[in-house]
Amino acid sequence: MFDALADRLEDAWKKLRGQDKIGAANIKPALQEIRRALLSADVNLQVVRDFVADVEKKALGAEVVSGVRPDQQFVKIVYDELVEVMGETNVPLAQAERSPTIVLMAGLQGTGKTTATAKLALFLKKQERNALMVATDVYRPAAIDQLITLGSQIDVPVFELGTDADPVDIARQGIEHAKAEGIDTVLIDTAGRLQIDTDMMDELRRIKDTVRPDEVLLVVDAMTGQEAASLTATFHDQIGVTGAILTKLDGDSRGGAALSVRRISGQPIKFVGVGEKVEALQPFYPERMASRILG
Ligand code: GDP
Repeated sequence: MFDALADRLEDAWKKLRGQDKIGAANIKPALQEIRRALLSADVNLQVVRDFVADVEKKALGAEVVSGVRPDQQFVKIVYDELVEVMGETNVPLAQAERSPTIVLMAGLQGTGKTTATAKLALFLKKQERNALMVATDVYRPAAIDQLITLGSQIDVPVFELGTDADPVDIARQGIEHAKAEGIDTVLIDTAGRLQIDTDMMDELRRIKDTVRPDEVLLVVDAMTGQEAASLTATFHDQIGVTGAILTKLDGDSRGGAALSVRRISGQPIKFVGVGEKVEALQPFYPERMASRILG
C-alpha cells in the first residue's frame, strides 16, 4: 500500500528511525512530506492545513506500539485519518420510505452530470430498482437529446417537455409521471453552466423547494483539483447538498478532490465515475481513495 508515499517519506523516516517514539522534534519533516503529498494530489490548501494539524495531534498523542516502527505507525495514523475524514464506509444512495425517491443532480456544465444521471439509472436498474430520468436543462436542446440517447441505450425512460417549459414544472410533472408509472426513483438532471451564477442557483433552489428531494447530489469533476473545494462550498452554502459524485477518476487525478469535498460539505461522496461509458460508475470507498490520494 502506498509505496510511492513510503518512498517519498524515506528521508523523513530516516530521522524517525532509530528513535522509539514519534515526538515533536522528529515529526516535522514527516508532516511536511504528508503536506506535499496531499497538495500534489490536489487537496485544497486549507483542507491540507487542517488535516496535517489533526495528524500532528494524533501522532504526538499516539501510544508506542511495540514491534512497530514509528515511521510505519505514522503512515498508519495518516491513512486512518484520511479514511475517517472521508467517512469510513460507503454511504448508499438515499431511499425514500415512500416511492419515488427523488434525486436532484447538480453541478457545472461539463463535469459529467448528465452522464452520471444515466450511470446512476443503470446502477439502480442492476439493483432491481427502476428509474425515470427527467430532463430540465431547457437552455441546451443538446442536453435533452443527450439524456434521451443515453436513456434508450440503457432502456430507462426519460421525461421531458422540450425547451419551452419551466424547469420546475418539468420536475414536478416528471415526479407525477413516475408515481403514475410505479417508478421508484426519479433522477432530475438540471441545467449546468460553465461557471456558478445566480440564475443557476435560483433555479436549482426553486426546483429543490418544489420537489423536496431525498438527495441532492453534487457532481464534481476530479480533474478540477483545487477548484472542487470552492465549487463545493458555494453549492453547499446556497442549495445544500446531501452527497457527491466524483467523476473522471479514470484520468490521472489522484483524487484529492474527494477529501476537499467531504471536508468542506461534511457530506459523503457516494459514487465515483471511472470512464465515459454508462457502466463506469462505482460506489465510493474511503479506503480505496485514501490509498490513491497517498499515491
Ligand atoms: P454535463 O455537462 O455535466 O452534463 O457533462 P456530460 O455528462 O455531458 O459529460 C461531459 C464529458 O465528460 C462527456 O464527454 C462525458 O463523456 C465525459 N465524462 C463524464 N463522466 C466521465 C468519467 O467518469 N470519465 C471520463 N473519462 N469522462 C467522463
